[in-house]
Amino acid sequence: MGTGTSTGVPVIGCTCPTCISTDLKDKRLRCSCYIEVGDIHLVIDVGPDFRGQAIKNGIKEVDAALITHHHFDHVAGLDDLRPFMFYNRASIPCYALKSTTDIMEEMFAYIFRDGNYPGVPKLELAEVHGPFVVQSRSGTASVAVIPIPIVHGSLEILGYRIGNFAYLTDVSEVPFSSIPLLKGLDVLVLDGLRDKPHPMHLTIEQSISVATEIGAKQTWFTHIAHDLMHAEIEARMPARMAPAYDGLQFIVD
Ligand SMILES: [Zn+2]
Ligand SMILES: [Zn+2]
Repeated sequence: MGTGTSTGVPVIGCTCPTCISTDLKDKRLRCSCYIEVGDIHLVIDVGPDFRGQAIKNGIKEVDAALITHHHFDHVAGLDDLRPFMFYNRASIPCYALKSTTDIMEEMFAYIFRDGNYPGVPKLELAEVHGPFVVQSRSGTASVAVIPIPIVHGSLEILGYRIGNFAYLTDVSEVPFSSIPLLKGLDVLVLDGLRDKPHPMHLTIEQSISVATEIGAKQTWFTHIAHDLMHAEIEARMPARMAPAYDGLQFIVD
């Protein structure tokens, strides 16, 4: 639903070629991914653009949120999960590492700590300690999720694998020990920020090399900065790799 870096693209006030481009694929909202597995509806990260993304994509249900880490561009929209409780009062679990849930509890103390005044979203922090199963809030279905430990600068954060799909945003390094968890993928979504090195993110070149090592049938790059125009990155991608764009949809067997 979003493929842009933390500022989004266009960047406020910027008149660079990407920011003034008329190519719709150069309009990038903050990173977010919506997944349907049968009757289960998952969202990976709930950033500041979530409300608009949910409306644009016609999203009617969210059974659980899988949170990669606590940065603003990945969690600032959490309160916008409220409308999903209007017809189902069961709380929505937000899965994340303890290091992330600790900070989310501070950031959203009125939800997670102070509790229960009317109108507060019913969200529940769920610490991830290994593979877990998400139940639909109606209790009729479940799906297995494999957390993938990744490095984001000085932070240890999570990517997620569901079946033969994996989503790794905000990556500076995929640790050696996580590579076996990523074998046999049909589709990989991977951080690819820009060409210039960045302490918290993979460059496009580094991203291509990580994607080659993982060897998914198809890799899409996300969290893209305004340094890069869609058409320009697309033109220099190896086979089975491409820059993602807002609204991209695919089916994974
Ligand atoms: Zn980010
Ligand atoms: Zn981040």
